[in-house]
Amino acid sequence: MKNPNTARRDEIAAGLAEVERRVSAACAAAGRARHEITLVAVTKTYPASDVRILAELGVADVGENRDQEAGPKALDCADLPLTWHFVGQIQTNKARSVVSYADVVHSVDRPRLAEALSREAVRAGRRVTCLVQVALDDDPARGGVVPAGLAALAETVAASEGLVLGGVMAVAPLGGDPDRAFARLAQLSSDLRVDHPEATVISAGMSGDLDHAIARGSTLVRVGTALLGRRKPFVR
Ligand SMILES: *Cc1c(COP(=O)(O)O)cnc(C)c1O
Repeated sequence: MKNPNTARRDEIAAGLAEVERRVSAACAAAGRARHEITLVAVTKTYPASDVRILAELGVADVGENRDQEAGPKALDCADLPLTWHFVGQIQTNKARSVVSYADVVHSVDRPRLAEALSREAVRAGRRVTCLVQVALDDDPARGGVVPAGLAALAETVAASEGLVLGGVMAVAPLGGDPDRAFARLAQLSSDLRVDHPEATVISAGMSGDLDHAIARGSTLVRVGTALLGRRKPFVR
């Protein structure tokens, strides 16, 4: 019988090869270079041992969406040369914990959160790259600032000590047309870069729609299921 660790490694390696194939094909179809796209492996619900396997396979960026889970996992993997991305909604009182391990926060959606992240980054002597999450359906229920609020929030982030404005992030609205959503995000990013040319990141695309996102200018895809398998629903 196969060692279970070897079996898991083979499984993840196969998932990674398939995701790489999709990313490369989407780049080729869009006339873009593979190096324009960062692949973030979203490891939520999966153990630190999977993060270790991903790192061994050459993945440099991992993402998490719940602080209670991410903190211990990041600590467990502190010896690995990884960039940690936080992609979930953040309660303001979790800012200190998130700043202790996250290099990039994708979900900045309100001034109070930016202020809390800034305060904690200064306290910890860290610089945190922040993406402003945009609610592309104009419904902030799933996180994100409405498009009309993007410029002002980006300004707040850019002016905050300890924070670096990295760009924008969005999740395609449920049941909507992903191409339309990602095209809108690309336009918002382009408008933002008039005043903030350094804010080049467009975080868009997940397992189901990364091809559409890359076609519409995404520079970073956040992929969980296609790499690691279907997640068990978790109980909070
Ligand atoms: C879980 C999650 C992902 C990854 O989703 P998959 O469909 O599993 O690839 C991407 N972005 C965010 C914000 C997530 O919470």
